[in-house]
Amino acid sequence: MRFAKVPKRPTDYVTSDDLLHDLLLVLKDVVAFESNLINASNGSGHYAGNGNGNGNGRYNGNGNGNGHHIPESEFAQLTLVIQKITDLYGRLNKRNLDVDQALVEASSQIGLDLKQLLHDCLRFPAVLPYARNLKGLRRLFLCYCGEQEISDRHGLGLCPECLESALECVQEKKKNNKFVLYSSHSPQVRCRHADFSTMLVTFYKPGQWPPAWCEICLKQEKNRLANK
Ligand SMILES: [Zn+2]
Ligand SMILES: [Zn+2]
Repeated sequence: MRFAKVPKRPTDYVTSDDLLHDLLLVLKDVVAFESNLINASNGSGHYAGNGNGNGNGRYNGNGNGNGHHIPESEFAQLTLVIQKITDLYGRLNKRNLDVDQALVEASSQIGLDLKQLLHDCLRFPAVLPYARNLKGLRRLFLCYCGEQEISDRHGLGLCPECLESALECVQEKKKNNKFVLYSSHSPQVRCRHADFSTMLVTFYKPGQWPPAWCEICLKQEKNRLANK
């Protein structure tokens, strides 16, 4: 992962605009870091949360109630990036500069809440800095519907509402405005339980091909969540 190059600026000669510019750059590095962490955990998405501990054993022991499960090298990198943020924010604070306005403007440009991200970075490592959209939802935990968060990243990726709704569709063999039903002769677009005649349900998203689930998938997921 390549980070933005933030120039080393001598304390006395740097303008507040430069410091602010650097702060925004490094905050965007934190945003970019999330995808890096997903790759680092081999796609299993153990950024944090309810890790099931079946990883490669390199996870650090920074569990603090949030249960961070990040590989050590990634955690060290994130720590360095966040130190830069703490430092820049400290320097801006010393000048009594209000960063809120700039953060709000930059947030609306990228659709992510950088003000909250800064706040979370300053509380690191007690809190992991997740990028949140302007509705306050963590980007990594968004359901396919985009309206709610999922409870963890180890299941189907459906929020409770969508899980219920999908199950209802498949059980009643009736689509609604969010989901469509199909069966397929192509194994690539079926779940592992299905054959060509199994009814599957998936999100109605023209131009995209979200995963499809059968009744067993959905019931198993419901069970898993109920027994967490
Ligand atoms: Zn949903
Ligand atoms: Zn299935």
